[in-house]
Amino acid sequence: MVRAPASRSNRRTRRNILLAEDNAVNATLAARLLEKEGHAVRLASNGLQVLTALEEEPFDLILMDVQMPLMDGLETVGRIRQREASSGRHIPVIALTAHAMRSDQDRCREAGMDGYLSKPIQAEALREAIARFLPARTGQDPAAPGMPGGLQISRESLLAHLDNDPLLLVDVVDLFLGLGPVLVAQMGQALRDGKAEALAMAAHTFRGAAGNFGATVVVDLAAALEQLARSGDLAAAAPLCRELEERAAEVGRILREIRDEVASVTVGHG
Ligand code: MN
Repeated sequence: MVRAPASRSNRRTRRNILLAEDNAVNATLAARLLEKEGHAVRLASNGLQVLTALEEEPFDLILMDVQMPLMDGLETVGRIRQREASSGRHIPVIALTAHAMRSDQDRCREAGMDGYLSKPIQAEALREAIARFLPARTGQDPAAPGMPGGLQISRESLLAHLDNDPLLLVDVVDLFLGLGPVLVAQMGQALRDGKAEALAMAAHTFRGAAGNFGATVVVDLAAALEQLARSGDLAAAAPLCRELEERAAEVGRILREIRDEVASVTVGHG
């Protein structure tokens, strides 16, 4: 393999990576592979250390083991997405999983992971994953290209999600504006009644519906909520549910504005 001259290449490709892995062998191996690529690596061995590290310094990407003590990878990424909800940022998080089954991949995505790597870690797969989520710097803002941030839903992004069809946009946004608040109310009620299964179902339906609009923040929140409800952790679900309520209302307002704007333009063409 031909290597580019170190100094210049490293300037462009060196990234600050947070590696969360409780197995010391796996952690050392992955850290060494990353360092060989010129990256700076900080280690964490559980989710709590991840959250602490994120408060102390900025990272370009997180590699996170799914099974860790104290706070596992799925719960941790849920909390990260929840915190990001107010900032509109989205740090790429790649799950490290011992299971490569479809259901595990789905669980990772639902929890807020952007991708996954099967263990044992292969150098080439690791390089590919890093390259996919962190393309080489070109001088512009490297912040997560292709990942819609927070509540920044625009008419253009919305149309892009909806086949660039204004009439379709008006129709499905109307549906969501009707259904969304009902589901949010159901989630609140289920939480008050202590009905985990009902909460999970409402969150699941909401997530599926909101996913059509690229409303990443509420999709991630609903996914985390569903996850917690399925695990029966209603105490942890409560703050997430409140957050989702607020965000869903915000998303609803934005969608209504865009819908009205599109409708006013589209009416004349009827
Ligand atoms: Mn582990």
